[in-house]
Amino acid sequence: MQGLMQEWPLLCTKVLDHAATFHPEREIVSRSVEGPMHRTNYRDIRARALKVSQRLERNGIALGDRVATLAWNTWRHFECWYGIVGIGAIYHTLNPRLFPDQIAWIMNDAEDKLLFTDLTFLPLVEAILPKVPSVETVIVLTDAAHMPETSIANAVPYEEWIGEADGDFAWKTFDENTAAGMCYTSGTTGMPKGVVYSHRSNVLHSMLAQQPDAMGLSARDRVLPIVPLFHANGWGIAFTCPMAGAALVMPGAKMDGASVYEILTTEKVTFSAAVPTVWLMLLQYLEKEGGELPDLKKVVIGGSACPRIVTQTFEERYGVEVIHAWGMTEMSPLGSLCTLKPEYAGLTGEALLDVKDKQGHPPFAVEMKITDDENRDRPWDGKTFGRLKVRGPAVARAYYKGAGAEQFDADGWFDTGDVAHMDANGYMQITDRAKDVIKSGGEWISTIELENLAVGHPDVGEAAVIGLKHPKWDERPLLVIVAKEGCQPAKEDILAYLSDKIVKWWMPDDIVFVDEIPHTATGKIQKITLREQFRDYQLPTAAED
Ligand code: ADP
Repeated sequence: MQGLMQEWPLLCTKVLDHAATFHPEREIVSRSVEGPMHRTNYRDIRARALKVSQRLERNGIALGDRVATLAWNTWRHFECWYGIVGIGAIYHTLNPRLFPDQIAWIMNDAEDKLLFTDLTFLPLVEAILPKVPSVETVIVLTDAAHMPETSIANAVPYEEWIGEADGDFAWKTFDENTAAGMCYTSGTTGMPKGVVYSHRSNVLHSMLAQQPDAMGLSARDRVLPIVPLFHANGWGIAFTCPMAGAALVMPGAKMDGASVYEILTTEKVTFSAAVPTVWLMLLQYLEKEGGELPDLKKVVIGGSACPRIVTQTFEERYGVEVIHAWGMTEMSPLGSLCTLKPEYAGLTGEALLDVKDKQGHPPFAVEMKITDDENRDRPWDGKTFGRLKVRGPAVARAYYKGAGAEQFDADGWFDTGDVAHMDANGYMQITDRAKDVIKSGGEWISTIELENLAVGHPDVGEAAVIGLKHPKWDERPLLVIVAKEGCQPAKEDILAYLSDKIVKWWMPDDIVFVDEIPHTATGKIQKITLREQFRDYQLPTAAED
């Protein structure tokens, strides 16, 4: 027997319809790229998104076409996403921090037909466009008054472009499994691969993100997504906020400590999400300039491991709850969040921080397991590492054009490429990327754990650990350090600092000091480059053995 419930396709546009109907006046505030603050609401955003849909159709964009965006978080970028998906086209976010050739490669792979770009990236677009023949139209996200001279033929200012539509238009409807968005992995561990979200996966992802033990947003929140829409599906916030009826505060192009502090306080932001580097900049700013965060209640921190000092400072000094989260572009992107179960109630001090260092437990609709290389389950004892595998309705089942097929198995599990352990309460902790973990004498050493400990030293600004070939142990750790400005830590001092925090065989065989550690476009340590840089480096222990 079939259930007798309605067919109601899970389309992204239904989320905006909900917000415009039940939270019409809720604010969307943006720091515009042109400078001034801009204020609108869900009702007006929906009206403009319909114009975007209508206007795109007039440009010949249809179901399945890829429409690229190269833009900061502003109301215009946000309404473009809805305008694009409103006719079954696919928003394709481009990361402007990638090398121009890599952006061109990605655009060609996706065969983007139209591009929305912010003013900031116009010179970049001028440089790459001749290499991307599929792009027919470029819309510059500004008005006629701010439109600069450009060598791009047919580039038009956005406000004039949508001004030509009257908005008398209805969203198109189609199967909920239709593609809605596309985002390429940032290529930290290889060539970028295309991830294709569906309407259904985006809507379900927002519902899973909405759970109280996940992001738990409400109509009373004012949300500042510092994580750009071009990172990992913008952490789903473009759908989660309207679903909750939460106000959106968009930071535009400015993500330095002073700007983040200003927008947090003037806009009375209650909830924010960003990678650890952004929070480090804010906390350093506050330490230097002073200031409080009276409205901010919660921050979600993910993208790379959150240093303990960030959690501790937010919670103990500023009274802001930190939710450490893990996810991936391939997972829409949320995978787990570290909220406290009753098993951990009452913990304080270091014991609480030990739990908060973990990436947490998965919300409903994310299945998770750890296995050995032969796909056998590993015990959940909080220490045995394994390959982290996931499954769920907002997890990729393939990459675009079949790339990386080896990461998907016949039972539907996706091998994340991360190495992690799980504890008896179902809390996961990332210990490494499979490609970075150091295999020493048949045992594994976690580079992330070593790095996090090393940055706890007061003179260490940034730390990276890589495995170098070793004649006896196969691989041994080398610790690479960027000292804090004005500090000159000694090797022996750092080794002594680490010595009572880790087992002896985890101790780095050597430490080198550098001016800079290479980073990827998403701000992660680029281990591939670092390993290349130190390929011929001789560990002192290699000669001894
Ligand atoms: P890329 O794989 O190219 O870096 P993503 O932005 O999708 O692109 O990054 C996902 C990866 O980031 C995860 O596989 C994991 O290695 C890392 N990551 C994300 N969140 C965390 C976290 N909280 N702690 C440690 N690593 C994290």
